[in-house]
Amino acid sequence: MHQIPDVTLNNGVKMPQLGFGVFQVPDEDTAVAVSNALQAGYRSIDTAAIYGNERGVGRAIAESSLARDELFITTKLWNDEQGYEATLNAFDASLGNLGLDYVDLYLIHWPAPARDLYLDTYRALEKILAEGRARAIGVSNFQVAHLQRLMDNTGVTPAVNQVELHPGLQQQELRAFHAQHGITTEAWSPLAQGAVLRDKAVLELAARHDVSPAQIVLRWHLQIGNVVIPKSVTPERIQQNLDVFSFQLTHGDLQAITALDRGLRTGPDPDTLN
Ligand code: NDP
Repeated sequence: MHQIPDVTLNNGVKMPQLGFGVFQVPDEDTAVAVSNALQAGYRSIDTAAIYGNERGVGRAIAESSLARDELFITTKLWNDEQGYEATLNAFDASLGNLGLDYVDLYLIHWPAPARDLYLDTYRALEKILAEGRARAIGVSNFQVAHLQRLMDNTGVTPAVNQVELHPGLQQQELRAFHAQHGITTEAWSPLAQGAVLRDKAVLELAARHDVSPAQIVLRWHLQIGNVVIPKSVTPERIQQNLDVFSFQLTHGDLQAITALDRGLRTGPDPDTLN
């Protein structure tokens, strides 16, 4: 069994630094994928209302023999449920789908700036936090300006900002802002959905360390302090992505990956997705 290190969030809650994402996994396949992940040793699962697979995650949790407090479950509020009352209702629905009475982390999925509802939405998250129905709250896809406005107008600094982050999009400015304000950086599409695994520099490092390209990229995330949530429905990859604690990248290796930053998104632009 692999020992996954925790990071300590700004409210003292501990979160595994490596978790398992289920974006684009159909609900009927999700329980099997999550059960495989739990069996392999993952304890943190990242889902979202919009993924339509919270029920599948819930089935895997119910079928596992793990105690609830051994797990770290994240879900997210979708854009069309933003607003104070709508958020409270959507949160209840997510808990029902998951079959849980609390989540470990609840996130606003996108700032959706044109809706201009993320402040009221976050106030609902603060209520959920105060009630103990989420152990930590945070955001996803927030840019510096969205974070600053949120922090200027609400009472709880987000514990986490989950953003697109991989060697081709390293988010240096956002990561520096997070570090300054005690916000944990969580990387989505940490493997750029596989695109970065064909990069020459990554392939060279994989050959040198005798590991896979995915293991090199995940190790890079971990060594620069990111929380990382790779997705796979392939049992060997689920195992492989967890096997990243028995080797170290050197300073030079890390620099070779830093040189791959192109500022290129594979997903939507948070300023325009609403
Ligand atoms: P990832 O970067 O995790 O890449 C997943 C892809 O890489 C899949 O096609 C998978 O294939 C493949 N893969 C996984 N491991 C390996 C490996 N060891 N070798 C080769 N290929 C591999 O992409 P995601 O977009 O899924 O991001 C991860 C998670 O981040 C999501 O599942 C979700 O939880 C979260 N996310 C959050 C977003 C947000 O807006 N907050 C947006 C997007 C994602 P296969 O499954 O076939 O094995």
